[in-house]
Amino acid sequence: MEKTIAAVATGNAAGGIGVIRISGEKAIEIADKVFKAADGSSLLNLDGYRAKFGNIVSDGRMLDNAVALVFRAPKSYTGENVCELSVHGGLFIVEKTLEAVLNAGAVPAEPGEFTKRAFLNGKMDLTQAESVADLISAQGETSVQASFNALQGSLSNKINGILESLMDCSANLAAWVDYPDEEIPDMDDTALVETIIHAARELKSLLVNYDSGQAMVQGIDTAIVGRPNVGKSTLMNLLAGKDKSIVTNIEGTTRDIVEESVRLGSLVLRLSDTAGLRNTRDAVESIGVERAYAKLDEAMLVLAVFDSNRPLIKEDLKLIEHCRGKRAIAVINKIDLTQRADLEVITSAFDKCIFISAKKSKSTKELEEAIKELVGAAEFDTSAPILANQRQKVCCTNAMNYCFEAHTCLIAGVTRDAVNVLVDSAIDELLSLTGRKANIEIVNNIFSRFCVGK
Ligand code: GDP
Repeated sequence: MEKTIAAVATGNAAGGIGVIRISGEKAIEIADKVFKAADGSSLLNLDGYRAKFGNIVSDGRMLDNAVALVFRAPKSYTGENVCELSVHGGLFIVEKTLEAVLNAGAVPAEPGEFTKRAFLNGKMDLTQAESVADLISAQGETSVQASFNALQGSLSNKINGILESLMDCSANLAAWVDYPDEEIPDMDDTALVETIIHAARELKSLLVNYDSGQAMVQGIDTAIVGRPNVGKSTLMNLLAGKDKSIVTNIEGTTRDIVEESVRLGSLVLRLSDTAGLRNTRDAVESIGVERAYAKLDEAMLVLAVFDSNRPLIKEDLKLIEHCRGKRAIAVINKIDLTQRADLEVITSAFDKCIFISAKKSKSTKELEEAIKELVGAAEFDTSAPILANQRQKVCCTNAMNYCFEAHTCLIAGVTRDAVNVLVDSAIDELLSLTGRKANIEIVNNIFSRFCVGK
C-alpha cells in the first residue's frame, strides 16, 4: 500500500463524465501535476471534500476541462489521500488522462484494489467489502436493498454481537482454567450454557435463511424443464423479452442449457432453458437431457412446462415424479389450443399451476406472483442480516458446529479447557467471516473478482 494507485472508476464506454480515481500518500501531489486549476491555485493547498474546476494537462498541452475532487486521509473511501478527476467521458480522453496520471507517478490499480485498501485500512470489514461487489452487480430492487444493508453493516453487526458474547465466554473459561484456585467471579454454568446455545441458534437462523437470501441477492436459480416442443424456449423468451433461445417446432432444438438473467418485477430469475426431456439415440442430445435432469435437481426453482394440446406421455409423468418435493410450478402451456392433456394428473401433483399461452401472452404477472409466493419473497426481510456467499456460509456453519459441540461438551461435564478450545475455534471462524482474522490468500481472492477502479 506504499504505492499510489490509479484507475478509471467509470465504465468502459463513452458517457457524459469519466472519473479517474487516484489513491495513496502521493495522490494529491500526482493529481496536481496533471491538473491545473482555473484560478491558478494548487491542489496541494486544498482541504478535503473540496473541488476545483480546471484543465488536464498532458504532454504540455491542455487535454480537457476537468473537476478535481480532493479527499484527505483518513476521510476517504480507501482511508488514504484520494483525488478524483472528472473529465468528459470519451474513452480516449479518459485513457489519456489516466496515462498522464500514471506518467506523473501513480501505478495502475489492480481489480478491487481501492476497496481492498478500504478493508485493510479498517474502513469496512470483509462482509461489507463483499457487499460492494454485490451492490454493483445487483439487478433488482430486492438485491440492491439487501446488498446495501450489508454495506451498512447489518451482517457485521450481527456477527460482532455473537462474537462479543463468545469472547466473554472464552475469557471466563480461560481465567477459570488458568487460575483455578483464585477467586474469579466466573459465569455460572447455566449462563455459560445459555450464551453458547444462544450463539449457536443465532448462527443457525442465519444459515436457515441462506438459500432465500441468495435467491434474493444473486437471483433465483430457475430451471425451465419439459419434454420437447412444450414451449420451454418460448416461455424463456417471453420472460427474457427477447429471442434468446431458439424456437422451432423440430424436437431437440435446445440441446444444451441456455442461461439468462431476467428481471420479473422485484425479483431476478437466473433462468436455464434446458434440452427437451426425451429418450434419444443422439449422443449430444442425450448429454443435454442428462444435464437437464441435473439442473432440475440443483435449481432452487423449477418451471415444469407441459403442453395442454397433447396427451401426457411417459416423459411428462417422469418429470412430474422428478418434481416431487422440489420448489416447482407446473406451467401448463398452449391454452390457446384445444385441451388434449389430462390436466388433473398435473394439477394434483403440483402445489402451483399456471395456465398460459407462452406464444400469445404478453403478461407474466401471474407467474411472477406464483414465484414470489413459492420462494417466500413477500415475507423476505431485506433489512435482516443475510449471508451473501459460500465463503460466509462456510465460516458460519463451522462456527455454529463448534458452538453446538461446546454446548454438548459443557452439559456432558467435559473439562472447561476442552470446551474453551471449541469456543475459540468458533470465534476464529467468525473473525475470518468478518475479515478481522482473514488469510491473505482469501482476501486477495475476494478482491480479484472485483472490477478495476472499484
Ligand atoms: P421447446 O422445445 O419446449 O423449447 O418448445 P418451443 O418453445 O421451441 O416451442 C415449440 C413450438 O410450440 C413452436 O412452434 C412454438 O411456436 C409453439 N408454441 C410455444 N408456445 C405456444 C403456445 O402457447 N401456443 C401455441 N399455439 N404454440 C406454442
